[in-house]
Amino acid sequence: MQAISLSAGTLPFAAPAGWIPLSPEYDPWDPIRSAAAYGRHELTSVELTVTHLCNMRCEHCAVGDSLTTKEAPHLPLDLLFARLDEVERLETISMTGGEPTFSMDTVRDILVPVLKYARKRGVRTQLNSNVTMDYERYEMIAPYLDVMHISFNYTKAEDFHEVGFARTGRNVSSGMIAKMYERMIENARRLADGGLFVSAESMINYRTHGKIADIHRLIREMGCVRHEVHPMYPSSFASGLPAITRGQMAEAVETLLDVRDPDMWMLFGTLPFFACSEDESERRLVRRLREETNVTVRNDPDGRNRVNVNLFSGDVYVTDFASVPPFGNIRGEKLDDVFAKWRDHPMQMAVNCHCPSAGCCGPNLLVSEMYYKGIDFKARKAIV
Ligand code: SF4
Repeated sequence: MQAISLSAGTLPFAAPAGWIPLSPEYDPWDPIRSAAAYGRHELTSVELTVTHLCNMRCEHCAVGDSLTTKEAPHLPLDLLFARLDEVERLETISMTGGEPTFSMDTVRDILVPVLKYARKRGVRTQLNSNVTMDYERYEMIAPYLDVMHISFNYTKAEDFHEVGFARTGRNVSSGMIAKMYERMIENARRLADGGLFVSAESMINYRTHGKIADIHRLIREMGCVRHEVHPMYPSSFASGLPAITRGQMAEAVETLLDVRDPDMWMLFGTLPFFACSEDESERRLVRRLREETNVTVRNDPDGRNRVNVNLFSGDVYVTDFASVPPFGNIRGEKLDDVFAKWRDHPMQMAVNCHCPSAGCCGPNLLVSEMYYKGIDFKARKAIV
């Protein structure tokens, strides 16, 4: 594969000199790496829910039902750092919301200290943001951040309006939204120009599957290093939206592979296609994804090598959006111990398959629930 990296140290937001560049060959979020290194799934990744506030209300928001307009104080950071210190094999930290930069207090009191902690420890970080706030907020964060992960499902400001404000419950003026759309694109561009690894994620859903090629082109023009693509799954707000067929989804993936910029890293995740499929055309697609240059299919970290910690309650979840109840709390338990409980959980055991020949460690809970109800993946094997 061709190496995709940013020149370390030459730009203000580039990774520190000497750090292995993130690339299709080095993706520390992929649980297949830790599963191969340790012989079983281990906790190497922690995701923090740092806010439930957001300036948008996207129609597909996977955590939409938990968004609020006011929130309680965070747990003390000393407690969080003590718990992170105990995670022996920690490689990555992600921060998510809501919109993590919505409040300046969160930027100053949570994001920056956590990112500095991670840098000191050599841990990679990702921030999930809509990058629609003032650039100054991102400028405070970018020097310590590894991946700025943005959502991008649009071809024009009108799409942004329809998708991003569908659940606001009030009219938002088109002029104001057009300005926000421009600011989002401008912020992404400035951060990318400063050497930050900007990764834009698109969903394949009823709105985007027919225009995914145009979305890809705009993402490339913004200077993003990576385009991440996932199907939409019916969680929270998204559960009321129309579904597309697996065939339409496969077609959108094929289109992207046909038209993509071959120099840009394309990361696919949570796809419902596996090397053990009885359907020859799905196996052919899986093979194509494996063989293309600068294309990766990331196994889902949620519940494999990662847990989600709610920074208000301390509750530990398998993901930030699953309906699975919390299975621990950092106020009284070590994260490695909480993770060990999850590893033995019947829900995790049911999808805990692993085919090294296909670089695959099975579907996540949403994929298995939606497409493979009642299927025992541990009885299947990759057909290579
Ligand atoms: S790891 Fe599981 S899902 Fe992947 S190819 Fe093997 S049996 Fe199928």
